[in-house]
Amino acid sequence: MTIDPSRFEALYGRRPEVRVSAPGRVNLIGEHTDYNEGFVLPTVIPQRTHVALAPRDDRQVRVVSGQVGGDAPFEYRLGGERPRHDWTDYVQGVTRVLAGEGFAIAGADLLVESTVPVGSGLSSSAALLVATARAFREAHALPLGDVALARLAQRAETDFVGAPVGIMDQMVCSLASDREALFLDARTLDYRLITLPPEVELVVINSGVAHQHSSGDYRTRRAECERAAAALGVAALRDLGADDVPRAMALPEPLGRRARHVVTEDDRVLEAVAAIERGDLVELGRLFYASHVSMRDDYEVSVPEIDLLVELARSEPGVHGARLTGGGFGGSVVILARPGEGRRVAGRVKSAYDRQSGRAATVLVPEP
Ligand code: ADP
Ligand code: MG
Repeated sequence: MTIDPSRFEALYGRRPEVRVSAPGRVNLIGEHTDYNEGFVLPTVIPQRTHVALAPRDDRQVRVVSGQVGGDAPFEYRLGGERPRHDWTDYVQGVTRVLAGEGFAIAGADLLVESTVPVGSGLSSSAALLVATARAFREAHALPLGDVALARLAQRAETDFVGAPVGIMDQMVCSLASDREALFLDARTLDYRLITLPPEVELVVINSGVAHQHSSGDYRTRRAECERAAAALGVAALRDLGADDVPRAMALPEPLGRRARHVVTEDDRVLEAVAAIERGDLVELGRLFYASHVSMRDDYEVSVPEIDLLVELARSEPGVHGARLTGGGFGGSVVILARPGEGRRVAGRVKSAYDRQSGRAATVLVPEP
């Protein structure tokens, strides 16, 4: 799917000059490690957010999204950005931050079209931010590298939209191409792009469970990690190694188990990178299952429905590994399937899950 220029023309009476896009993402492994200043390994998904742009010679911005907000353009003036607490804040945030950093931009007519499911944990927000920033970068040939663009997109989301997000989503959306994963050190922002082996096809299935108190539980986990780090005399749990786990386990419950998840998960990310690079899918799958058990038992962010999806995936012959992806308390699982088996595996896991759980799972990847 790309943007139909005649749709743009119908809206604005002229053709777009710039057409760009950015992908959604899923985290392969490294969960709840980012705020502990550890490692993450997200990858991009096939669904993308497209932005078409025609520059203007005044300072007006007009924008329409094919997904949200209807057909009437939202219109504002550069320098007059005001949060409206809706989707337009992502676009306004990008122009505000670009101007704030001294980039000279003019007004523009914009059209957004996306196949990234909105609000399903595949980071449609980062895809929109990165695609919008790319459109202005291309329109004005801005001297803005991909890392700088990711940081700018993050600032738009934290400072203008007001969502306290980390840098992972914007970095992977901005830096990774198809079939690449981003191995990112959340402390230093050092990163490496890793090509996924041809022997794996990704499947992502949403459980249909959304925990009402997930943001509260998330804050509780973060606070527990801070307490554990302080009690163990380190700046962040990232600074602990496997040798420190016995010491951590002597802390009052549940701090030890929280720390053990973070320490072992950081190690699993490093091991997963090594497994991918030598094409060892059996080991990669083992690490996925181990990560899931750690999130379930030590970090306690899984729910029975998610555990069921992982077990159903595990019983499929064409599957290397599966685990909860994202913050937890519901959400999605990511499954490593054999190439060409993704659709079949997804269909079988979904129908067994729907039957056994009484809920309706949604297959997010491969694209329906
Ligand atoms: P996620 O990033 O997991 O999809 P978020 O809540 O972070 O969920 O971001 C979703 C929000 O991003 C939407 O509610 C909307 O405001 C905005 N958004 C994402 N994609 C689009 C789009 N194609 N058109 C308009 N707004 C979008
Ligand atoms: Mg988001």
